[in-house]
Amino acid sequence: MDRHRGPGSEPPAAHPRCEPLGKRPIRFEPRPPRRAGARIGGSRLSERDLIAAFETLLRPRSERVLRWIGDDAAVVRARPLQVTSVDAMVDGVHFRLDHPRVGPADVGHRALAAALSDLAAMAADPGEAYVALGVPPGFGGEAVLALVGAMEALAARTGTTMAGGDLVAAPVLTIAVTVVGWADDERDLVGRDGARPGDVVGVTGPLGASAAGLAVLEGRARGPDALVRAHLRPEPRLAAGRALARAGAGALVDVSDGLATDAHHLAARSGVRIVLDLDALPLAEGVAEVADTLGVPPWALAAGGGEDFELCACLPEAAARKTGLAIVGRVGDGPAALELSSGGRRVDLAGYEHRLA
Ligand SMILES: [Mg+2]
Repeated sequence: MDRHRGPGSEPPAAHPRCEPLGKRPIRFEPRPPRRAGARIGGSRLSERDLIAAFETLLRPRSERVLRWIGDDAAVVRARPLQVTSVDAMVDGVHFRLDHPRVGPADVGHRALAAALSDLAAMAADPGEAYVALGVPPGFGGEAVLALVGAMEALAARTGTTMAGGDLVAAPVLTIAVTVVGWADDERDLVGRDGARPGDVVGVTGPLGASAAGLAVLEGRARGPDALVRAHLRPEPRLAAGRALARAGAGALVDVSDGLATDAHHLAARSGVRIVLDLDALPLAEGVAEVADTLGVPPWALAAGGGEDFELCACLPEAAARKTGLAIVGRVGDGPAALELSSGGRRVDLAGYEHRLA
């Protein structure tokens, strides 16, 4: 979970995807009563039909899940440690459903993948997912089933059970995913605060594909379909997270906001100085060409673009080499800071970030 902090710690920087609520009063109004036969999104499928369809579509994947869809609440046999993360996505903010290349299945997949990526970054075993879906007018039952079907496909691949949720009418498509992961021992989990001077910084795979794919989707550049797919269908690196924990990673984060931002989180929480070598960042195929079109260096997409959902780890160099990580930086003594270098010179990413948007 991105927004947890311990007592006495500095408040984290505002999440770049969120607008502050400011001083506007928040009013909670009773929601209208729902009828089981109510139509969803104006389609021929009622809410009752959809819930029946979910029971056919979804499968439990753990003997721990004792009660789920069909009961008033899910009942899960707990392991010693529960790891919980919440991720919400809203049409027009985190995706554009009106784009011809973006479908309900893409949106469902991406929402669950982003939530599971936080469990990967804690090195937890995935357990259950709970989904609250706000469905707008015109988003029919078939679209709901396509969205949930794509979630279930990813859940099946990752051993996750879609154990419950809620379905409500909403002005725009809204998906809030709560994922619960498990561990038997606190030492099996990895936070952001364990980077040590002398560690190296490594990433689990190529970067920049998601930002480049978004530029292709938005018509700002041309590039291979694989980039668009990387943006729409990211894969949470759950196995890699657990392998890095076993290899001795002291700090771990998923690359959701961009490597520079996420590595800064590691530096801040660990109280260390991290130096990233931008020329060492592994690039996905086609990223350099898209960067050229946008008029930015490739590392601007790799370090400044978010949502690649690779993992970034700090660990001793010998361990990093065994895990096959791409080594992209080093950890030094505090105070906490992030330094970026290219061609042996210090670089400020901020000058390029506005050109990515
Ligand atoms: Mg995260």
